[in-house]
Amino acid sequence: MNDIKLAILGSEGVGKSALIVRFLTRRFIGEYASASECIYRKRLSIDGRQLNLELYDPCSQACEGKSTLNDQIHWADGFVVVYDISDRCSFSKAKAIVHLIRELNLGVAKRDADSLVFLVGNKQDLCHVREVRREEGQRLAAESQCQFYELSAAEHYQEVVLMFSKTVHNVSLGGGKAKE
Ligand code: GDP
Ligand code: MG
Repeated sequence: MNDIKLAILGSEGVGKSALIVRFLTRRFIGEYASASECIYRKRLSIDGRQLNLELYDPCSQACEGKSTLNDQIHWADGFVVVYDISDRCSFSKAKAIVHLIRELNLGVAKRDADSLVFLVGNKQDLCHVREVRREEGQRLAAESQCQFYELSAAEHYQEVVLMFSKTVHNVSLGGGKAKE
């Protein structure tokens, strides 16, 4: 597979755009507002193979013509599901998204489905106002066969890169959905 489509999902304000922009430009942009959903494209080489990466970033506010979560899940080969460790509601939302991905991808071979979702607890720099314990994230990831990281888009550039690279690597190994 040479084209890899990743959807970055999660509640508004958890730092999805911040993570993507950090990965693509190295920079942390504090206020990044986009009025519409968008797809970022990047060429990258992993394990000596050239890949076209597409990153789907949902729009921040309710916007016209917004695709549904189901559409986004069907579109993507892999997922980064983000919550904010200082916001319990965002964790509940992440849990619902992970479950929906599992439900909609039931047809995908078990072996392949395991590594396609990365659960990310973002804003680790806000651990003094933490509402979601690390163990809760770990448990959800283990129950749902997701990989898991806690990190900070603001402070951990290397971890952000590692997280995206691992996701791309797993999807490129053939974990993607078989396309008719
Ligand atoms: P999105 O709606 O999920 O795309 O969230 P944004 O990327 O727009 O980020 C929402 C807010 O959270 C912005 O004010 C960001 O500056 C902030 N933010 C994002 N990542 C971090 C982080 O790792 N730490 C902290 N402290 N703030 C962050
Ligand atoms: Mg955004």
